[in-house]
Amino acid sequence: MESNDRQSRIEHLPWTKLGDAATWQTQLPRTKRLRYNPLRESMADVFSKKKRSQVMAAIRSNGNKDTELRFAAMLRAHGINGWRRNQRLPGKPDFIFRSARVAVFVDGCFWHGCRWHCRMPKSRTDFWASKIARNKERDREVGRLLRKRQWRVLRFWEHNLKSPDKVIDKLRTMLATRTKQP
Ligand SMILES: [Zn+2]
Repeated sequence: MESNDRQSRIEHLPWTKLGDAATWQTQLPRTKRLRYNPLRESMADVFSKKKRSQVMAAIRSNGNKDTELRFAAMLRAHGINGWRRNQRLPGKPDFIFRSARVAVFVDGCFWHGCRWHCRMPKSRTDFWASKIARNKERDREVGRLLRKRQWRVLRFWEHNLKSPDKVIDKLRTMLATRTKQP
């Protein structure tokens, strides 16, 4: 979790200063955009909202763990070997295939801002929007860093796991083609 100080700084940023968060909002259907009103939040709401979003964060981070475990189960079910987890690389890829130099991320639809399934929480929406925008920016940066080190990066959405065959096909194709070793 962020420190309270940082949270409150983010919350009081004018909408225009949220940069990527604002741009990203414009890509959403009008009905799903955030209505930002800095005057709306009263002091009385703050603590209950904080508590609520802590609870939400706990639930969502469990969801993330679940996604990784489901992906691991899919790999096993399809007899795909040679992967490792928790390796020290930029962005800590969820799975890596060292010999094929493929790094795989399975992105949660909420945390990484999937355009179809990321439902903004009704409370502290500006806080969540800027957090997710930063996650997206970090994803891009991590991709650049990994590619610089001759890793190929494969990202799946959590919702892709509903079509395991497509995911496995894509992964197999990438594993079958090896880049030249530096
Ligand atoms: Zn999704």
